[in-house]
Amino acid sequence: MDNRSLSSQSVSSATLPRSPIAIDGDAAPAAILHEVFGYAQFRGAQAEIVDHVVAGGDALVLMPTGGGKSLCYQIPAIARQRMGRGVSIVVSPLIALMHDQVGALHEAGVNAAFLNSTLDWEQTQDVERRMLSGEITLLYAAPERVNTPRFLQQLDSLKQRGKLSLFAIDEAHCVSQWGHDFRPEYRALTVLHERYPGVPRIALTATADDLTRADIVERLQLEEARQFVSSFDRPNIRYTIVEKKEATTQLLRFIESEHEGDAGVVYCQSRKRVEDVAITLQNAGINALPYHAGLDAAVRQKHQDRFLREEGIVMVATIAFGMGIDKPDVRFVGHLDMPKNIEGYYQETGRAGRDGAPADAWMTYGLQDVVNQRRMIDESPAGEPFKEVMRGKLDALLSLAEASDCRRVRLLGYFGEASTPCGNCDNCITPPQVWDGTDAARKLLSTIYRVQQQSGISFGAGHVMDILRGKVTDKTKQFGHERISTFGLGAEFSEVQLRGVLRQLIATGALAVDTEAFNTLKLTEGSRAVLKGEANVALRESVSSPASRSGGKTRRDKTARGAPSPAAATLDAAGQARFDALKAWRAEVAKEHNLPAYVIFHDATLASIAERSPATLEDLQGISGIGTKKLEAYGADVLRVCSSF
Ligand code: ADP
Ligand code: ZN
Repeated sequence: MDNRSLSSQSVSSATLPRSPIAIDGDAAPAAILHEVFGYAQFRGAQAEIVDHVVAGGDALVLMPTGGGKSLCYQIPAIARQRMGRGVSIVVSPLIALMHDQVGALHEAGVNAAFLNSTLDWEQTQDVERRMLSGEITLLYAAPERVNTPRFLQQLDSLKQRGKLSLFAIDEAHCVSQWGHDFRPEYRALTVLHERYPGVPRIALTATADDLTRADIVERLQLEEARQFVSSFDRPNIRYTIVEKKEATTQLLRFIESEHEGDAGVVYCQSRKRVEDVAITLQNAGINALPYHAGLDAAVRQKHQDRFLREEGIVMVATIAFGMGIDKPDVRFVGHLDMPKNIEGYYQETGRAGRDGAPADAWMTYGLQDVVNQRRMIDESPAGEPFKEVMRGKLDALLSLAEASDCRRVRLLGYFGEASTPCGNCDNCITPPQVWDGTDAARKLLSTIYRVQQQSGISFGAGHVMDILRGKVTDKTKQFGHERISTFGLGAEFSEVQLRGVLRQLIATGALAVDTEAFNTLKLTEGSRAVLKGEANVALRESVSSPASRSGGKTRRDKTARGAPSPAAATLDAAGQARFDALKAWRAEVAKEHNLPAYVIFHDATLASIAERSPATLEDLQGISGIGTKKLEAYGADVLRVCSSF
């Protein structure tokens, strides 16, 4: 591991004016961006955030996944270290990823380290010594570590010597019970503010509904912090939500037709389902791995490492997987079951396409999802006010799924952002047929009412639909339901249509499912308006198959090895050969350093190199992603690989 310190010895903290600080020379953020990370320009609000934090301000940063949050604290940490301010502490819940995060910084020549339970005693002491000496620029630690007396004493010591520079609180939504990754240890992080009031703090999250945001501010005492709210749009992600029929088969068809050979994540609700789906995909020749909390920790780590280090792996997972995964070339995120709320959905789908190249967010959704999610809320031990909030959040997701207009407009609207139809979601690309389901809805509700009146008990969806469609079954005979006045009145509706109507009635609260009593259907307060014909029910016409929207054609040309990297799509044959050789070289280096390949160089960087066909080190300068350290470490090798053509 490289321990080269980047601290500038020439500036001592005593000589620095408190505020405003003139930042120039090698502590200038733009210079660090260029020199350390090899990037030409800040993106979006990055520059403003970095300036604010370098100057000692507190910040709350809300930026979508892939927006570039890491630089928002890494560059201030490096700048402040160069100004003689010492160590920045990064609080992160992701022990399993700290090694790679720190490894990526080492590759860029930044003195970083982590403290967590994977280190032995000797390693721990070594890191602590380097931290206390102030030489480390970024120290990653889990929240439970931050709260130990030992660590706090070490921070005290740093503070006394003016070497405690900054606190960065990553995944800050973990502090909130409204977020989807609540971690009680985050609550104790108020100690940072209380014990070290003068040390600036930057909290970052990609979860940003108002409730969660307000909770983060309150729980972390960030009332004085400046809030930086970025647009949550991820224009390169295409959103598609299809009606669930045979979910696993639909998924297979989707992967085979659009994402052969691509890396992806597929979310399922239960561990059992994760296992089943992974096996089905494997049997179909897809490189799939399961991931859920029930697997042995070592197996989980192994699967995660393989996903990060190998190409084209599909991770089939519960929500236990994914936070902090910064693999840039995940080409699709699938949901076989509906998540709890839009925050969860957006966070999970946001893991696709961090590199900015086209990616898919694809979900199947059906009546059973509505029933399951409602049941989980009803059966949770939480208090009624909490359940009400959760139901509200679920409803927002249901109406997104039922929507026949632009998905992105709705998603962004949920996060308080106005936008216009995007042209890159299923509804924009193929506007769905809408039909008026008001009549069908009234007939269904009155059937449910009459059956209940006549038999004194409630029935499930299948039986109610049979009655309305006039289907004689053992059950209709047994209960004499052929005599119900609505029997056969809805013969013109298909079962798919009626199922859609039921789903929407349940989604909008005009009908309830009694999960205690065999999922039977019950009228609600909300039923009345529909029965009276006061509420309109507009429904999407069922879309037959996910592949049908692209006419069954594949979206990108495939080669025998699978999909070409989008970064390399424009290369000529010689360029493609250089690109392949560079990738092979990168794989070796990554293996040697025990890091994912993208930590060495992104595909886009390799593609630029391949395109330029460099002969000298100067030719490599200015390529995005090649900073000073990487040029030094890998420049000669890259030239050698390219010169072999
Ligand atoms: P987040 O943590 O917000 O999900 P990351 O910090 O992982 O996002 O950044 C996403 C990707 O964008 C990373 O690959 C990162 O290297 C790249 N990136 C971030 N900022 C810039 C920039 N200013 N110029 C070029 N690439 C950037
Ligand atoms: Zn759209």
